Amino acid sequence: DRAAAASAPLTDGALADGTAIPLLANLGNADAAAEAVALGAEGVGLFRTEFLFLSSSQAPTVEQQREAYTKLLQAFPGKKVVVRVLDAGADKPLAFLNDAHEENPALGLRGIRALRASEDILREQLTALAEADAATQADLWVMAPMVATVEETRYFVDLARDYGIKTAGVMVEVPSSALLADRVLVDADFASIGTNDLTQYTMAADRLLGSVASFQDPWHPAVLRLIREVGDAGRANGKPVGICGEAAADPLLAVVLVGLGATSLSMAPTALADVRATLLQHTLDQARTIASAALAASDAASARAAAQEAARS
Ligand code: PEP
Ligand code: MG
Repeated sequence: DRAAAASAPLTDGALADGTAIPLLANLGNADAAAEAVALGAEGVGLFRTEFLFLSSSQAPTVEQQREAYTKLLQAFPGKKVVVRVLDAGADKPLAFLNDAHEENPALGLRGIRALRASEDILREQLTALAEADAATQADLWVMAPMVATVEETRYFVDLARDYGIKTAGVMVEVPSSALLADRVLVDADFASIGTNDLTQYTMAADRLLGSVASFQDPWHPAVLRLIREVGDAGRANGKPVGICGEAAADPLLAVVLVGLGATSLSMAPTALADVRATLLQHTLDQARTIASAALAASDAASARAAAQEAARS
């Protein structure tokens, strides 16, 4: 029952053959850290820093940021914490950073592009992160959003290293960086796939627009094929590939993502229990077979059905 389940010790994420798949939390605020730990998060796979910036008309100071990042890192001693630098634009517009007159903000100066155009903000954020890292015991990883090119990857990784960040990576949420993942992962220490935006850009369907919501389905084999590219590139380069979009919270899709090469999964903490239980039912070989069945489908609904069928046999 629920009470017994709540008091049972939480095991780390793993497949039936013992392959570890760390299960991490998506967080938007350090105040949510304790609850994530209670729900079994083994660390943080995506800390969205936008909340620090959204409530004010200017960027927070280095001191304000250091305080927030320190609080976050202190909640995860010895654990991996992946912080994403500011992802402003499109669905997360910031008055002091984004141009409200862009006709297509999802295709505009957003994410790492916007930070590069206002590099002081990025430098201050990296300063605050490095200071918080030095004062705490967590394993800090830092990543950039909306990276589209190898050149942007190098730019971000080099800058992060200048500030003493030891592990610097990129989000793969634009098809170009998924297709070039083998090159991106030469320079980046890791990749984290943002399936929300990767689906939006693969299907050319605004993730905020109800009239095209049926296209926003990460089960689509076109999206899965791009994820496979990243998984293969991670294996070839010996680099971790996480998933931090909503797709990781769908238990059967989580199995498919692992079969495609994901080495960790990050999600809303309330989704952790179901994903943990489902991963334990399949070996890595089975996950790969289930993923192959989904990849061979021609649309999202049949990919899901094929995965369900493969998971039963
Ligand atoms: C994503 O795009 O999948 C992602 C995790 O980032 P966000 O939802 O914050 O854009
Ligand atoms: Mg995104």
